[in-house]
Amino acid sequence: MDYNTEAINLMAQQLAEMFKSAVMSQQESAVGNPTIAQIEADMREALRQIGNQALGLFLSSMQTTPEKEIACSCGGTLHYQRMRTARVISVFGRTRYVRAYYAGCDCKEGKAPIDEQFGLEPGAVTAGLATLLALAGIEFSYDKSPKWLQTYLLFDISENTVRSETEQMGLLQEKREESLIQQSQDEQYLQERQRNPGGIAPRLYGSIDAAKVRIEPRSKKGEEKEAHEDWRDMKMLCWFETETVPPSQRTKRQQKKVIREQPALRAKNMQYFCDITKAETFGKLLWATGCTVNADLCSDLVFLGDGAVWIWNLVTQYYPNAKQIIDWYHAEEHLEIVATAAFPDLIQRTTWLEEATQTLWDGQVEDVIAVCQALALTCVQASQAVIYFTNNMERMRYNRFRAAGYMIGSGTIESGCKQVVSQRLKLPGAQWLVSGAVHTAKARAVWLSEQWHVLCAQRSALPLVT
Ligand SMILES: [Zn+2]
Repeated sequence: MDYNTEAINLMAQQLAEMFKSAVMSQQESAVGNPTIAQIEADMREALRQIGNQALGLFLSSMQTTPEKEIACSCGGTLHYQRMRTARVISVFGRTRYVRAYYAGCDCKEGKAPIDEQFGLEPGAVTAGLATLLALAGIEFSYDKSPKWLQTYLLFDISENTVRSETEQMGLLQEKREESLIQQSQDEQYLQERQRNPGGIAPRLYGSIDAAKVRIEPRSKKGEEKEAHEDWRDMKMLCWFETETVPPSQRTKRQQKKVIREQPALRAKNMQYFCDITKAETFGKLLWATGCTVNADLCSDLVFLGDGAVWIWNLVTQYYPNAKQIIDWYHAEEHLEIVATAAFPDLIQRTTWLEEATQTLWDGQVEDVIAVCQALALTCVQASQAVIYFTNNMERMRYNRFRAAGYMIGSGTIESGCKQVVSQRLKLPGAQWLVSGAVHTAKARAVWLSEQWHVLCAQRSALPLVT
């Protein structure tokens, strides 16, 4: 849309004049000089009111002379009734406009063509405001959002409105995922993709993890509210690529890593997905989203995760050729647990741990198993570690992984879990039913994946709710 700069200049001059005379009369009445903060606050409020009126006038002006009759979506005929006032909640507040209203069809439906043209639903939030409310909703708990929004928007929005607009964005993402899943099970699509795959990353990573979310006990009508709360796994998936961190940008931790012969890598192009669902269903999401990044066609696909069996089962099922790497820090932690349990003496403990860690770092998993085995008779943690290292032996050849330049830490997915679950779903004041938790998390995952604009476009294209 092009604006007329001259017209804007003229309006700005008028506003400036208005403020100047207000300040002058304030000075004359000896109230004193307003601060710049006061001027800014007043000018924002004036601009909001101007915007609100302008939007209403604009919408009303788009109404041409009403036709006597128009077609109804049922195939019947609607008759012009009268000009009718409607209100929507826009980025400027409660905006009022007037448009022609039609009714009188046999199907009993009525409609206003202007509402349809602009995707407006009387009484509801406009698409422009909806995406701002949802942005607050993925960042703050719903009970805190209204206060924060009031400061920015200069008008009141209810907690429920923020909640429903945020969940609406998550619902849109859920629909996107459902259609990806459907597409990824279509033979024709898969064949076409193989002929014409588009970009394939030279090396692609997938990482899967889960974090606990507390779900409020749902009380059905007539039933006693169950006293116990319910913890559910929010499963999370991230696709990403890596790049080498330039020496000047390396953190202390990364500098240390380089000294330990590990390349300083960082994740880029992260795409996060999440759901509270069975592993089997999550597998479909893994496959469907993998298709969008050509994971199955990538010749160097790497999966990073902790030792959870369901994760490696899914990876093996959908990407049998992918390299599987156990997150280094999880593996190392198992040695720490053994050391703490087996050696009360600090020097013995430190010596054992340093040697075992170095052996693991060198990928000599058989030797790690042997030193744990030696402690297994008297230490239950050591015999558990034997099982863990034996089951994951080939996923811990850290010498080879390092030589090939692979990332060996699953920090990318853990950061995703933290940002979605700890930093939003676990905020004080947050209470969840499964659907609310899932939709809020999905919306937040889209924001973290820098795909928010895609949802915004879909939100503004939403058909009217009738
Ligand atoms: Zn009709």
